Amino acid sequence: MESQKKYTPRFSFEFFPPKTDVGINKLKQVSETLGQQNPAFFSVTYGAGGSTRDRTFETVASVKEITGIATAPHLSCVGDTREQLRELIHQYKDNGINRIVTLRGDLPSGMGASLGELKYASDLVAFIREETGDHFHLEVAAYPEMHPQATSMDADLKAFKAKVDAGASSAITQYFYNVDAYKFFVDSCEKMGIDIPIVVGIMPITNHDKLMRFSNMCGAEVPRWIRTRIESHATDLDYITKFGEEVVTNLCEQLLELGAPGFHFYTLNQAEPSLSIWKNLNLSDI
Ligand code: FAD
Repeated sequence: MESQKKYTPRFSFEFFPPKTDVGINKLKQVSETLGQQNPAFFSVTYGAGGSTRDRTFETVASVKEITGIATAPHLSCVGDTREQLRELIHQYKDNGINRIVTLRGDLPSGMGASLGELKYASDLVAFIREETGDHFHLEVAAYPEMHPQATSMDADLKAFKAKVDAGASSAITQYFYNVDAYKFFVDSCEKMGIDIPIVVGIMPITNHDKLMRFSNMCGAEVPRWIRTRIESHATDLDYITKFGEEVVTNLCEQLLELGAPGFHFYTLNQAEPSLSIWKNLNLSDI
């Protein structure tokens, strides 16, 4: 974990681009509330294959304008052509955006995963560097519990290194509730000579069904002791919210102690769950 300790911790929040007027108004309030905590940046997800191309662009612009805080788009390459990606990257550059969360993405099931001209996130990192040099700070995804499609942890670590070698500036992890998974991942990265900040993605726990559904999709493990508790209180949202806040606050405390260089909160466009953990940890003062 030594290499991570030299980085100044940074804290950020992630949103998805809302579809409806109600969702847009809600995100205005949520981003204003979270903006008061002075995060390092906000980010806005992208629907693979370009399904949210315009909405992601518009949401990035509006969150940045409402809050005055740097806002980064996510961009994925699966299902998009080089030309579509080139246009979007230059549009972001021309609009004063200087950070991109750079991904392969997942097409909806049945559409395959290799459509598009760039196959892996490492290809997209290399493409953005070719197009715009050092303009963007490029975030990439990291998987302490292994990406669900990887053939082995070693293969996944090599794929992660390929993104760093292609020019990634820092990484954000898939969420996890197991500190050892992160520690071993970071130690393996160190042994391979990977030296970029590996910021931890944090998923607050607020709802049993949603958490299990997301976790099954993305391959994040929900430890049995957490699962059994939220399962047996599945309809008691107050219990889950309180329990989840305590569990995730403890997780974050252990990670900070270990030297994790920051957190990126998957807010799902809700202020309160992330904010209460943020406040418990006094992250605005770190
Ligand atoms: P890659 O790094 O390309 O890896 C994908 C798989 O291919 C892995 O199994 C890897 O081991 C393997 N691989 C990579 N390179 C090679 C190679 N050269 N040879 C063989 N195998 C290889 N999804 C969205 O659609 N929109 C979003 O906005 C979004 N935001 C995210 C934000 C974060 C912080 C994270 C952690 C994930 C996000 N995702 C998002 C999900 C992500 O798109 C999926 O996890 C996707 O399946 C993999 O994307 P990646 O960028 O990690 O892909």
